[in-house]
Amino acid sequence: RLEVQHISRRFGGRAVVDDVSLKVMPGQVTCLLGPSGCGKSTTLRIIAGVDMQDEGKIFVDGQLVCDTVHRVPPEGRSVGLMFQDFALFPHLTVADNVAFGLKGSKAEKRARVEELLTRVDLLRFIDEYPHQLSGGEQQRVALARALAPRPGIMLMDEPFSGLDDRLRDDIRDETLSVLKEEGTAVLLVTHEPEEAMRMADEIALMRDGRIVQQGAPYNIYNAPVDRAAAGFFSDIN
Ligand code: ATP
Ligand code: MG
Repeated sequence: RLEVQHISRRFGGRAVVDDVSLKVMPGQVTCLLGPSGCGKSTTLRIIAGVDMQDEGKIFVDGQLVCDTVHRVPPEGRSVGLMFQDFALFPHLTVADNVAFGLKGSKAEKRARVEELLTRVDLLRFIDEYPHQLSGGEQQRVALARALAPRPGIMLMDEPFSGLDDRLRDDIRDETLSVLKEEGTAVLLVTHEPEEAMRMADEIALMRDGRIVQQGAPYNIYNAPVDRAAAGFFSDIN
């Protein structure tokens, strides 16, 4: 469970993230939806711990990971990351890519790697290298790698945008169903209303650093908070 309370981040006097609060429950997908430059990636970076807020608090499973005084480093947060640039290590096999960062005995790691590769239907590639896989297959390896340490929370920043349309839909649906099965709380960034409508249990609509509306997709679509929000959704059919 992820809880973000009133975080703000300023760059050169400008509030790029402005009093943002969010909650994501286990097995649920919350989409952070908004136009380019509204502060989505900055919000995710702060939650991941690679940037720091000027104000506000972040809790993971009820535990404070970050306020303006205390700060748990990224690797201590039980937070998985999938970004657009999902680069695998080219010199490591698929197995070693997925096992990277896992703790435990060799046999334990191998068992977890096999379990995950089975899940993403790539067990047959276990001893291959990334360049021997298609882009979509590499992305599924990246998913397996992100899931390997069993993070309670997965932060995804437009991780599917590099793929062609059909492949993207397949991989996106598959990825999110795996995450739901694992009971992971997912915060998915997108600037496409259609994607948010399709994937989200809850949408947080962001503009100029602020969450302007939050709720079930159906409610936001049917009762947009203002004209700009309505316009944002008007292209969907
Ligand atoms: P996109 O959909 O294009 O990825 P975004 O919503 O992810 O956009 P951010 O990357 O969070 O947007 O950036 C929000 C704003 O903050 C932008 O105007 C950006 O220029 C600014 N910004 C982000 N990081 C920094 C930084 N380190 N220093 C100064 N300004 C920054
Ligand atoms: Mg971004």
